[in-house]
Amino acid sequence: MKVTDHIKNANGKTLFSFEIIPPVKGRNIQELYGNIDPLMEFKPPFIDVTTSREEYIYIDRDGLLDKKLTRMRPGTVGICASIKHKYDVDTVPHVLCGGFTREETEYLLVDCHYLGIDNVMALRGDAMREQKYFEPTKGGHKYAVSLVEQIQKLNCGTYLHEVIETDNCSDFCIGVAGYPEKHMEAPSLLTDLKRLKQKVDAGADYVVTQMFFDNSKYFEFVKAAKDFGIHVPIIPGIKPIAVKKHLQLLPQVFKIDVPQDLVDAVEDCKDNKAVRQVGVDWAIQQSKELKAAGVPVLHYYSMGKSDNIKAIAKELF
Ligand code: FAD
Repeated sequence: MKVTDHIKNANGKTLFSFEIIPPVKGRNIQELYGNIDPLMEFKPPFIDVTTSREEYIYIDRDGLLDKKLTRMRPGTVGICASIKHKYDVDTVPHVLCGGFTREETEYLLVDCHYLGIDNVMALRGDAMREQKYFEPTKGGHKYAVSLVEQIQKLNCGTYLHEVIETDNCSDFCIGVAGYPEKHMEAPSLLTDLKRLKQKVDAGADYVVTQMFFDNSKYFEFVKAAKDFGIHVPIIPGIKPIAVKKHLQLLPQVFKIDVPQDLVDAVEDCKDNKAVRQVGVDWAIQQSKELKAAGVPVLHYYSMGKSDNIKAIAKELF
């Protein structure tokens, strides 16, 4: 079922969902299940599975370093299919511009359609580790908006090189990313909103936000988006801080602010167990306020470990 239909059917009740990352290549999928199992009692209507970009690795061949391009966490669509099958829950594969040609994207979407996957998250992806700025893959998309256009066209039977008249068209519900504190490359929040509106006008059905730690940023963003003519559901993305290093890492990587009260509480912690508890408590307060404000879904970034998400969900759902 589409994410937007889950939201409609909930009749204003806030839903619970989360995002997982595929295991590192060669690891057992049981580890992943081990982190999903404890969260299923909260009845997520959908689970997102991220896609990781390819990266360069260096292989030592008799003293000479061989540079190879590889994906360390492949398997997004396969994992979506296996979770859907095992738990009877909808899954949302993240589809990226970076690292994929338009043709590869088309084949991936065809796979998703055959697997009965109804939702996809359309994203540009970040620059590769060795690049300063995002560079589109040869034959791939430059911005998420053109990926949304490709998916939307496919939904109408328009493939890249042919129009196919069929009664078996895909009907993907399309999610896109939104940034309450603006995307790091956008010159202003208004410009970024303009780009978000383009994605929605191109066919995006809902938005999931980047993590934020101050709810007022989300509320202001939702209001600004509405004033700008964006009327699709905007799902808040929540990440509990889990280690002290997050205080430097999250602002550096995602260009987001951490409120001073949270910084102080984390800095006062003696160890990472205490930090994890601070992160959980903060996320519970954030989630309670968001739920009271009637957000459609509370979407949690699990980053592969679910004990903290479970502790939060227990207080909310
Ligand atoms: P876009 O919407 O294309 O925007 C990128 C930048 O370009 C923005 O600054 C925008 O303002 C600007 N822009 C857009 N259109 C135009 C235009 N026509 N002309 C000029 N400028 C333009 N990354 C992964 O690698 N894998 C994942 O699974 C993943 N999942 C994510 C899930 C969520 C909920 C979020 C919020 C992010 C996720 N990301 C993921 C990160 C995401 O790929 C990066 O934030 C990326 O830098 C931007 O992606 P986007 O889809 O927002 O890009």
